[in-house]
Amino acid sequence: MTAPGTLFIVSAPSGAGKSSLIAALLARHANAAMEVSISHTTRAPRPGEENGKHYHFVSVEEFKSLIDKQAFFEYAEVFGNFYGTSKLNIQQRLAAGVDVFLDIDWQGAQQVREQLPESKSIFILPPSTEILLQRLSNRGQDSDEVIAKRMTKARAEMSHYHEYDFLIVNDEFEKALDDLEALVRSHSLAQAGQAIRHKDMLTQLLAE
Ligand code: 5GP
Repeated sequence: MTAPGTLFIVSAPSGAGKSSLIAALLARHANAAMEVSISHTTRAPRPGEENGKHYHFVSVEEFKSLIDKQAFFEYAEVFGNFYGTSKLNIQQRLAAGVDVFLDIDWQGAQQVREQLPESKSIFILPPSTEILLQRLSNRGQDSDEVIAKRMTKARAEMSHYHEYDFLIVNDEFEKALDDLEALVRSHSLAQAGQAIRHKDMLTQLLAE
């Protein structure tokens, strides 16, 4: 029997560095059983984003047909676009012992917690309003109005911080990455999983 993996829900406002932190954690542990789930979305790809790598980019019709087929573990409308985590794979990957990361918003996090109460949820925060503003302002290329809108969205997401099991402040990237790594590592030591991994050793230790 394989010890099951943990489902980690990671949420943050845009500009907190969530996707970079997850990517860096997976890169640090290239040989470990860790994966990030690739969501479906109806939003248009941004420059540099690849279909099947960053997201599965689909039309609204395709997304709605996937909802009808009950293909989603969770889905939500986030600021005018649909985003969803496909059911496919998640349970199988967890059963195979893989830690799965979901980069999703607070609405998706609520749905996942309901279905999988043993999942762990992490909220990433920026260290201050000033730094969040800097990170949201795209090197002076956006109008004040666009930046103000991003800030309102960020506040709406951050207002849900208290629903999460863990909070990480991304002030220094490397430190936030260490915090995320420590969290994931500590969960890999949970008694239930360790007892499965070390079954033979435990049997031997307890033998008269
Ligand atoms: P972006 O468009 O910037 O990539 O993502 C916008 C927001 O949608 C982010 O907060 C991101 O975490 C969230 N998101 C991405 N994929 C999913 C998903 O599958 N489900 C939910 N509920 N939110 C998602």
